[in-house]
Amino acid sequence: MRIIRVGYQDKTFYATIENGMLHCLDRKLGLAAPVPLEQARLLPLVSPTKIICLAVNYLAHGHEIKHEIPEVPRLFFKPPSALIMHQEPIVLPAASLHVDYEAELAVVMGRFCRDVEPEEAPNYVFGYTCANDVTARDLQKKDVLFGRAKGFDTFAPVGPWIETEVGDLGNLSVKTFVNNELRQQGNTKDMIFSTFEIISFVSKIMTLVPGDVILTGTPEGVGPLSPGDEVTVEIENVGRLTNPVRHQEHLAG
Ligand code: MG
Repeated sequence: MRIIRVGYQDKTFYATIENGMLHCLDRKLGLAAPVPLEQARLLPLVSPTKIICLAVNYLAHGHEIKHEIPEVPRLFFKPPSALIMHQEPIVLPAASLHVDYEAELAVVMGRFCRDVEPEEAPNYVFGYTCANDVTARDLQKKDVLFGRAKGFDTFAPVGPWIETEVGDLGNLSVKTFVNNELRQQGNTKDMIFSTFEIISFVSKIMTLVPGDVILTGTPEGVGPLSPGDEVTVEIENVGRLTNPVRHQEHLAG
């Protein structure tokens, strides 16, 4: 099932799409009749309290960025203000000369989740989507800490929808295309920590709230983005997330 989040009249809700018609998933709103897609406003898929990311979760990517292989998941955060939707532009900040794409499988939480074991984790998941962990690589190296390098506005493209059925989570291809050219290719089978191990690990530290997003790390093959590029993250059985890339515009004066 593919789910998007929309605004319609004064309401905000999750809906499935079928033949251009939206079917509201929130029964309390009393919208029993389907709504034409063009009458609704597309909204970001999530309104998270936090976006949690894994620093190194594929061996080959760890080697590529010369990072030691972690014994437990290494977490960092992106601010919710970095979120953008499918087709919204990634803005390259003037402060960086080297911004990379990173294709990642993202998990959207569906229920409050605290202190769960990996086998219980699937019960707390809403669905899966594509994410691009956009990274100012030069600032990441310079700062050591990730707050600036990963936190710029527009550095968290997520979408284009939430998919609830993805088949074998541990065997999905993860790809990046830049201007339709394949640049990054991996598979979730090469993850160091599985999606459910990650959810369990995080839930023993902090309460996960519905709408929170976890980015599960990127495979090898990260590379730079330039103004005018179009970058697509494609995850098998999940979808394709495309964003144009542009320079930061400076205000005159
Ligand atoms: Mg990443």
